[in-house]
Amino acid sequence: MLLRNVTLWDGCGSDYSSDYDAIRILPEGTLQCTTSDDRIGNEPTKDLAGAYVIPGLIDAHIHLCLDPEESDPFAHGKVPEAIQLEAMALRAKKMVEAGITAARDLGGGQWLELKIRDAILAGEIPGPRLICAGQPITSPGGHCHFWGGEAEDTAAAMTVIARQAEAGVDLIKVMATGGNITPGSKPMDAQFDGAVMQSIVNEANRLGYSVAAHCHGTDGIRHAADAGVTTIEHCSWVGPNGWGKHFDLELAKDIAEAGIWISPTVNAGWGRHLSNTNYLAAMNTRYQTMKSSGCQFIASTDAGIPNVFHEDLPKALAVYQAVAAFSNVETLRSATSDCALALGIESVTGSVVNGLSADLMILPESPLSDLRALQKPLEIYARGAAVLSS
Ligand SMILES: [Zn+2]
Repeated sequence: MLLRNVTLWDGCGSDYSSDYDAIRILPEGTLQCTTSDDRIGNEPTKDLAGAYVIPGLIDAHIHLCLDPEESDPFAHGKVPEAIQLEAMALRAKKMVEAGITAARDLGGGQWLELKIRDAILAGEIPGPRLICAGQPITSPGGHCHFWGGEAEDTAAAMTVIARQAEAGVDLIKVMATGGNITPGSKPMDAQFDGAVMQSIVNEANRLGYSVAAHCHGTDGIRHAADAGVTTIEHCSWVGPNGWGKHFDLELAKDIAEAGIWISPTVNAGWGRHLSNTNYLAAMNTRYQTMKSSGCQFIASTDAGIPNVFHEDLPKALAVYQAVAAFSNVETLRSATSDCALALGIESVTGSVVNGLSADLMILPESPLSDLRALQKPLEIYARGAAVLSS
């Protein structure tokens, strides 16, 4: 199949391609960049004159098992497994139809998202390519302890990691600090000391896993950075004076130096703060300071937490762009090629490059001019199959 007469952004460059204006989707589901006059034999063609093609989007932080309309974090585990799986499959379908062709699931209690991952990969149900962490390691009674990953010391953390490996996860998630949705847990407080964090990262790496660390408080960010995690989730710089009030420039430089990615989980709901000029100025300054310190960012939403819907990354990116004062192309890279790199899937997806999976968004307007174009896709392809068609 040849998609002709398109304007192509490859997920990496600073502008549209001047070399290619067509994409060939090969029978095995991979893609080839070409020109509109390069029709081979009688291959089917589709004329998409005026449309834009970009790589499918990647959300670096979701929870497929969580229902955004359920505010009680303990409620999910009580729902029968078959009903949960049905709801999760529906969320996965909505995600891929919105143009999210890959996502990293950062935690659940029953490994049900791994079943969804495998069913998607086998072509049994539609959905994004999933990378799953299983049960996050947390302290006793700590953030999301109800998912079963509690560990009081290094030895217990090793047991949790071994259990995830046995279940077939793709990476390890650790709660370096407390969090919002867990009663009794304080976002400011570190849940593990530096030595335990280091043991967790060492063991995960030894088994071939990357590590995502949930970090609100600055102390926990420090432990995660020193231990050499792969991604720092949220990175909220919380301390005694509140959220965002304990930004540490030296620590930001250390994060950059270590090549750790920041995944700030800016969801579409943050849009309600954009009219607050003081808030926006403070956020812009913080993100631009982190960026000029060398920090690299990936797009994420924490989908599944209350009122954060799984299919909303395309909406969230315009808000994220405004919060961080990134350019449109920087924002898009953080949801495509850069995100794939951080997740270790860059040889499979995240850019429109010959041989990669045909994970594509076809848009009616230029996303490099206005990110809101992401919200009205004409067509979506995932692994070469049309999941949304005009
Ligand atoms: Zn999360």
